[in-house]
Amino acid sequence: MSRTADDQRTEGLRRMLLERRQAVQQEIDRSLAAYREGQSRLRDESVPDSEDMSLRSSTADQRISLLESRNRVRDQIDEALRRLDEGLYGICENCGTPIGEARLQALPFARRCVACQEQAELLEQIERREVRKEI
Ligand SMILES: [Zn+2]
Repeated sequence: MSRTADDQRTEGLRRMLLERRQAVQQEIDRSLAAYREGQSRLRDESVPDSEDMSLRSSTADQRISLLESRNRVRDQIDEALRRLDEGLYGICENCGTPIGEARLQALPFARRCVACQEQAELLEQIERREVRKEI
């Protein structure tokens, strides 16, 4: 039996996810290297003035939060790859139809198809309005 369209789709999605994972991993490696470098520079220098210190620690904080968000993205990609293996990735959790590849390229962690997403957002808007009316 020849490869089905399903297999081809899965392969394409896997490649897309793996490429993204690699890109994120490289960013993490770079951030970690920059962080380590900053730490050792801090240790090597003589006592810096307080202004200098706070500037440096805010840069370090920024680096750390960037690192954390990249780490989360990597976790999400791993989760997506697991779901892909289980045949659940890229399937709308609401109606069960496959989510378009273009949509997944733009939003790799989309859990609903466009139609269901629009519907969900509309329902959320209506709910918020209802809540506001009650208040
Ligand atoms: Zn749907």
